[in-house]
Amino acid sequence: MRLSVLGATGSIGQSTLDIVARNPERFSIATLTANRNAHGLADAAIRVGAERAVLADAEGYNLLKDLLAGTGVEAAAGAEAVEEAAMADADMVVAAIVGAAGLAPTLAAVKKGRAIALANKECLVCAGSLFMELAERHGASILPVDSEHNAIFQVLETKNSDQVEKVILTASGGPFRKFSLEEMRGVTPEEALKHPNWDMGQRISIDSATMMNKGFEVIEAHYLYGLAAERLEVLVHPQSAVHGLVQYRDGSLLAQLGTPDMRTPISHCLAWPERIPVPTQRLDLAALGSLTFEKPDGLRFPALPLAYRALEAGMAATAALNAADEVAVDSFLRRRIGFLDIVAIVEKTIETLDRAGELSNCGSIFDVMNVDAAARRSAEEFSRT
Ligand code: NDP
Repeated sequence: MRLSVLGATGSIGQSTLDIVARNPERFSIATLTANRNAHGLADAAIRVGAERAVLADAEGYNLLKDLLAGTGVEAAAGAEAVEEAAMADADMVVAAIVGAAGLAPTLAAVKKGRAIALANKECLVCAGSLFMELAERHGASILPVDSEHNAIFQVLETKNSDQVEKVILTASGGPFRKFSLEEMRGVTPEEALKHPNWDMGQRISIDSATMMNKGFEVIEAHYLYGLAAERLEVLVHPQSAVHGLVQYRDGSLLAQLGTPDMRTPISHCLAWPERIPVPTQRLDLAALGSLTFEKPDGLRFPALPLAYRALEAGMAATAALNAADEVAVDSFLRRRIGFLDIVAIVEKTIETLDRAGELSNCGSIFDVMNVDAAARRSAEEFSRT
């Protein structure tokens, strides 16, 4: 199977390449992409024998070309080259760019009817109904990499989704699960980046600490599984052993469990409907002893109710939710704002755009990009004041 990996230097990209390297008879790599990390991209491309390596940042082209000289891997750079990479001949595209930057290249792959292993949840948060419509129209199957959605996909494999009562997404609760608001006020980026169970990229780690990530996942599940918000529940489960549950109308509750290692859901997408060996640490239930679950606290973690409200309001609001969060998370990482300001800025941005009538109409990708730009401007402004 020929794969292209968008975002190959990131956490999901590297886990994907680990699976590829362990199964050389099964997978080959057409194209790998990254943003600016020319060294990481060149190393990865040589290691897995990629045909092409592409940087989004055009200024990195000469460095990448030098690093790949004599290796047989072709170099390219620029936003257009990333979209071309997404469209290049491949059986599956792994969409693992972080942020709304992943939308255009993933859509380019969708329009080519490629199978998509979707890690970039922002595609659905920003443009959910348009994305799913295009996938349907072009015959692109969407396989969910996100561990909770992959868990649900595994439990729904019998195609009995019409008999589902509700879906439960679990959340670890992040590093500040037990913190009061007062304690959260002063936390540093280093503390917020220390996720108790998962090793992930910076943005999703901060989003896990605010629980905005779980809000994004509710939106993602809504579009993937066609379930209304009231049938999507979140439970805090600090052990991160149960990743997702489906409750059926006969009262059965089915779950997928495993240790927190993204190679399990990634390999499930790459090999689906088969299962291939993955050397993760196995879940030792006896050693774990107990599994606990609790309701999320929307007062200490207001990102979650905010995401539900955005989902009810529609695609413009969820696109603004993502864009404002990207800006606010970046401002927090640069120490321009405090931890609690992240969600406050996202909320103020959505209110501001709503009052200005900018969230009323969103019927095309062009509209989504306009809302995204407006939300970034507004969140940037709030980050400065
Ligand atoms: P990382 O930050 O680790 O990696 C991001 C990747 O995207 C890198 O290859 C980076 O390149 C590339 N990239 C960043 N900005 C751009 C841009 N503007 N244009 C093109 N490429 C860009 O992120 P993760 O791997 O953690 O997350 C990737 C996606 O997967 C996110 O949407 C996240 O929500 C989702 N996800 C991640 C999980 C995880 O465990 N990490 C779990 C579930 C979902 P460079 O290295 O050059 O910056």
